[in-house]
Amino acid sequence: MVKIKKLFQNRQSIKEVEEARALLKNMISGIKLLEKDLAAEKKELRRLEMKGKEITEDIRENNEKLYGGEISATKELIQIEKKLKKLSEENSEIEDLVIQQMEEIENIEKELNEKKNEEKEKQAFLKELEEKDKEQSNSIKAQYRKQKESKQQLETQISPQLLQKYSHLKKTKGSNIVAKVKGGVCLGCQVSLSSSTVGRLYTPGIILTCENCGKLIFLVD
Ligand SMILES: [Zn+2]
Repeated sequence: MVKIKKLFQNRQSIKEVEEARALLKNMISGIKLLEKDLAAEKKELRRLEMKGKEITEDIRENNEKLYGGEISATKELIQIEKKLKKLSEENSEIEDLVIQQMEEIENIEKELNEKKNEEKEKQAFLKELEEKDKEQSNSIKAQYRKQKESKQQLETQISPQLLQKYSHLKKTKGSNIVAKVKGGVCLGCQVSLSSSTVGRLYTPGIILTCENCGKLIFLVD
């Protein structure tokens, strides 16, 4: 019975399930990190796009000033032209950054997709392992029940007095508590028993313990 309990606790299938669960847990935290990254990169993209809009608006306003005819002072017009040149450079920088950012996001999304697919596969695999473990543990449990039943059946065949004596000895002395007697010698401790004890052993149903080692003794031919 103890062996079966150990067998149950150490079954290979539960180890496999636990390993797969740990792997999946790691995978999920990896995915969460990537999702966090993705959100940050998207936020950065929105910032760049806003900046781009501002610059575009600035360019439009300065173009209006330059060609609107309201300003006629050459010095001022030259300054506006200078400013427009600078804005146009800034705009092209921002456009490059936006493209880079989009590529970055695309890469993260691709990686995230792969990881999510992998996670799905691992989830399915874990489910398989869990089913397998369920089968294995059910089979061990059935084995255990069967043994328990046969033990109970055996116990009904043994006299209650003997059973009581046996459980008492087991509690006080541990597991090795039954000894055979052969040729008047207790095989549990190799000490000769008194002739009266040996004689009494022939009485059917009698419960005796060794005078020396205290084990339950039985005659063997
Ligand atoms: Zn003995």
